[in-house]
Amino acid sequence: MSAHDSSLHGDRPAILRWLGFGRNTEAPEAPPAPRPAAMPPDPARAARLALMTDITAFLDAHEIEVTALTLAAVHDYLTASDIGLVCAIDRRLGANLPITTEWLETAGREEERVDDREALAALMVRLESNLDEFGKTTNAARSAANEYSSALEAHVGGLGQGAHGTASMISELASLARAMLTRTRDLEREMTRSELQTRTLRRNLDQARRTADKDHLTGLPNRRAFEAMFEAELAVAAAEHEHLCVAFCDIDDFKRINDTHGHEAGDRVLRAVAQNLARISNDKCHVARHGGEEFVILFRGVSLNEAWDMLDEARIQQAERRLVNRANDMPFGKVTFSGGVADVFAYDDPRAALRAADQALYRAKEEGRNRIVLATRSEG
Ligand code: GH3
Ligand code: MG
Ligand code: MG
Repeated sequence: MSAHDSSLHGDRPAILRWLGFGRNTEAPEAPPAPRPAAMPPDPARAARLALMTDITAFLDAHEIEVTALTLAAVHDYLTASDIGLVCAIDRRLGANLPITTEWLETAGREEERVDDREALAALMVRLESNLDEFGKTTNAARSAANEYSSALEAHVGGLGQGAHGTASMISELASLARAMLTRTRDLEREMTRSELQTRTLRRNLDQARRTADKDHLTGLPNRRAFEAMFEAELAVAAAEHEHLCVAFCDIDDFKRINDTHGHEAGDRVLRAVAQNLARISNDKCHVARHGGEEFVILFRGVSLNEAWDMLDEARIQQAERRLVNRANDMPFGKVTFSGGVADVFAYDDPRAALRAADQALYRAKEEGRNRIVLATRSEG
C-alpha cells in the first residue's frame, strides 16, 4: 500500500477502519488490515504465564530450590489456594524469618492449623490488595484510552493537509495504534489475572467465613454467628412487627459428667444435647453454641409463651433420653439442661433482653435445674 492509495484520501472512517478502529459495519473498502502473524493472545493463558513468572520470582528472591513440593507450595501461596500456608508464610515474612527450601517442604506444610480469624484476616488482606490492583488496572486502562483518544484526535485533525502530510500522519497513526494494541493486551492480561485470583480468593473467603461462623465441636453456629443473626433477626422482626424472643440454656451438672467420664465423653454429651436442641431450629428459630456448655436460641414470630413451649418440649425430650458412654457402656445418667427466655421487645435495649434471659436461666438453676424460666420485665 502506498501513501497515494486513493482509499485513504479524505475518508477518515476508512482510514480508522484500516487501522483497526471505528465501527466495522460496512464491507471494507480499504485493503484488508494486515493479519497478525501469531494467534490472538489468550488472556487466561497469559495470566497463567504471569503466575509462573511470579512463582519463579518468589523462588529466586528466597533462593528456594525448584522441587515439586516447593513449586506446589509457592503456587498455593500466591494463588491463596492454601490459606494455612498463606498465613504461615506471611507470619514468617512478617517476623523477618527466612523462607527456605527445607522449611517450605516440611514445616511450612505442617504448621499448626491456623486460627479462623487469622485465616479470615489474611484472606481479607489479599482480597483488598487484589481489588486495589484491579482498580489500578482499570484506571490505567481508562487513562490509556484517554491518552490514545487525545493523540488520535490531534493526528486525525491534521489529516487532509495534502498527500505528504497524510502519509506521515498515517505512519504515526499506525505506530500509535500498535502501541495502543500492545498496551491493551498487557492490561487485558493483568485484568484476567486479577479476575482469576479474585475468584479463587472469594471462594476461599466464603469457605473461611463459613468455617469461622461454625462451632467445630457441635457443628452449630457459634457465638460470633449468633451476634450477626441477632442483629439481622432484630431488624426483620422490628420491620415486620413480629415477636422476637431469646433464650439461654445451660447443661446441668456438666462438670460431673466430665469428672466421671472424662473430657472426651463430655464432648460427646455436649454434641448430643446440641443435636437435640437443634431439632427445634427452622428458618425463624436459630440455635447456636454460646460457649462452654451453654446455648443461645433466637425465636422470631413466636410469642414468649410459645417460645417457652418449644424450649420446654426440647427440655422434656432431653430429660427422657438415656445416654450411654459408648467407650465403656457406662450410663451417663440423666442429662438435663435449664433455660431462661425473654421477650426482646419488652426491653428498651436488646442487650437488656439478653441479660434478662441469662438472669432467668440463673433462677432456673437456683430453683432446682431441669426447667425453663420466663424472664420478668424487671430483669435485664
Ligand atoms: P450447672 O448446672 O450449675 O451449670 O453446673 P455445671 O457443672 O454444668 O457448671 P460449671 O460451670 O461448674 O461447669 C461447666 C463445665 O463444663 C466446666 C467445663 O470444663 C465444662 N466444659 C465447658 N466447655 C466444654 C467442652 O467443650 N467440652 C467439655 N467436655 N467440657 C466443657
Ligand atoms: Mg452447666
Ligand atoms: Mg455454664
